[in-house]
Amino acid sequence: MNDSVIKCLIIGSGPAGHTAAIYAARANLSPVLYEGIEPGGQLTITTDIENFPGFPEGITGPELMARMKQQSQKFGADVRFGVVTQVDFGTRPFRVRIDDTQDLHAESVIIATGATAKYLGLESETRLRGNGVSACATCDGFFYRGRDVAVVGGGDTACEEASYLAGICNRVYLIVRKNHLRASKAMQERVFSTPNIEVLFEHNTVEVLGDEENGVTGALLRHTGGKEMTIEIAGFFLAIGHHPNTEVFSEFIDCDTEGYIVTKAGTPRTNIAGVFAAGDVKDPHYRQAISAAGSGCMAALECEKYLMLK
Ligand code: NDP
Repeated sequence: MNDSVIKCLIIGSGPAGHTAAIYAARANLSPVLYEGIEPGGQLTITTDIENFPGFPEGITGPELMARMKQQSQKFGADVRFGVVTQVDFGTRPFRVRIDDTQDLHAESVIIATGATAKYLGLESETRLRGNGVSACATCDGFFYRGRDVAVVGGGDTACEEASYLAGICNRVYLIVRKNHLRASKAMQERVFSTPNIEVLFEHNTVEVLGDEENGVTGALLRHTGGKEMTIEIAGFFLAIGHHPNTEVFSEFIDCDTEGYIVTKAGTPRTNIAGVFAAGDVKDPHYRQAISAAGSGCMAALECEKYLMLK
């Protein structure tokens, strides 16, 4: 085998990727980790994390990810900045292209590329992104203190974000396309019992209103019956789910209808021996830092076994 072949290539730098790197490095697999477009992953755009065991006083997302990276590097993981733009898992060693320019070869790969927030796809929403339009209430809610805002979605994330914003903002509109919430009963109760959250059932957003100078100023909504109304808001938050970052692998790796990687039940194994998946990229349900970290550990252990038996 060629010396330049990477033993264990990890793609992604969230809790799954870094936990895999820590385990792989300690197992002498000399892992190389590519950080991707968003080094540190989704936690870098959150604020306080209070449910990651070991931090009774809480820890910020960026700080937790910085510590994970530090721990990966301490054990010798080679953490590199770069984005995987193409793969060929039909050849061995696997071929992986970085930033459309550099080709690498790897004996095994752990995919931990996570998931990205979905947007509605409106032109006005794209134009005002970062200027009143956001997919992270905990990151950006602070900017709308005392103002009126809207959250789109009817799941747990939307309810959680609406509740969070209700504590900071004057009024929160929750825009729900159906006539019911999909969120858990507990979250629904929290929303319904918060006086400054107004749930607008059976409404869709036609347009986010505003301009570059003033940011978001409102939203034009349409009831399923056809009637339109305008709400005045300063912030427009999306909470309509996530999209797994799997496009680059989909030619080779089995994914479900939503694009999440399908792994063999209870394991991080994909349909290709030697390619493993960990974290949100294979998990449409739990999506927690701790569950992602756990699956990163499993992927590294499986990878070690694979390389030993190969
Ligand atoms: P979900 O997929 O559960 O909910 C997405 C929501 O967005 C749904 O109400 C959906 O409507 C709505 N939606 C989707 N597309 C559009 C659109 N184009 N226009 C308007 N509305 C739209 O995603 P979540 O992020 O809320 O949750 C994902 C998973 O994570 C769930 O399993 C959830 O339970 C879990 N989670 C758990 C938390 C906790 O336990 N504390 C916190 C956050 C998430 P519709 O219902 O009509 O499809």
